[in-house]
Amino acid sequence: MIPEDHPRYRSLKVRERLAACAKAGIVTLEGLTAHGRGEAFDYLLGERTTESALLAERCAAALIRTSKRPVLSVNGNTAALAAREIRELQQATSIAVEVNLFHRTEERVERIEALLRGAGVEVLTGRAEPLLPLSHARAYCLREGIYAADTILVPLEDGDRCEALVGMGKRVIAVDLNPLSRTSRCATLTIVDELTRALPEIASASRTMGTDEMRHLSSAIDNRRFLREALAEMNRRLIHALD
Ligand code: ATP
Ligand code: MG
Repeated sequence: MIPEDHPRYRSLKVRERLAACAKAGIVTLEGLTAHGRGEAFDYLLGERTTESALLAERCAAALIRTSKRPVLSVNGNTAALAAREIRELQQATSIAVEVNLFHRTEERVERIEALLRGAGVEVLTGRAEPLLPLSHARAYCLREGIYAADTILVPLEDGDRCEALVGMGKRVIAVDLNPLSRTSRCATLTIVDELTRALPEIASASRTMGTDEMRHLSSAIDNRRFLREALAEMNRRLIHALD
């Protein structure tokens, strides 16, 4: 039992949830270490959504809304952390949802799909084929899903796959707390924010955004500026950490 008055209550609850999902075969042990890296960068950001990330979230909503075939690619960590937030985003934008795993087994895919459906998410299913220019199992996706997508939202993504998707001409939106990762640098748009804070902001922006703002934001994205602003914020906080 984690006492509710513990100063790190939320963070400890999230870890508890991920550990339970690891035992249930949804999150991998590698996924747990990736979460730790995310936590460290979130500490540097002050565990809050910055002004710059909020604008990136509006840009993401604009990219999704101006797409013909937007797809959200879900891995084990994403499903464990944010199934409810994924449902909300799907309700707001009609984005398609596909499970796509680095450590892929059909059993894990099915478990993650069941978790998402249990939260009310509509999940694309079918026979995955090796359609992405990547070696081995990471290439597998659905022809009518990620392969056909024009815009793809990839939370907690690996750099190689992000590069492959951009190389296929897709607009790639990453959610990654590490502004230095290969994913962050190669995506069309990177949201440097924690996943469960980012998805509701994208959903809410997408509900309220007018056509003019949508066109304007989606046509003028400067990813490096978002990365520089995230680094500047971390830098500022580090410099003044002990004041
Ligand atoms: P890359 O392959 O892009 O260079 P990496 O190998 O360092 O990155 P991966 O394990 O491939 O990292 O991807 C996981 C990324 O997700 C990490 O950069 C981590 O900071 C980030 N991350 C982990 N948990 C969260 C979260 N809850 N919200 C947002 N980002 C997260
Ligand atoms: Mg990686």
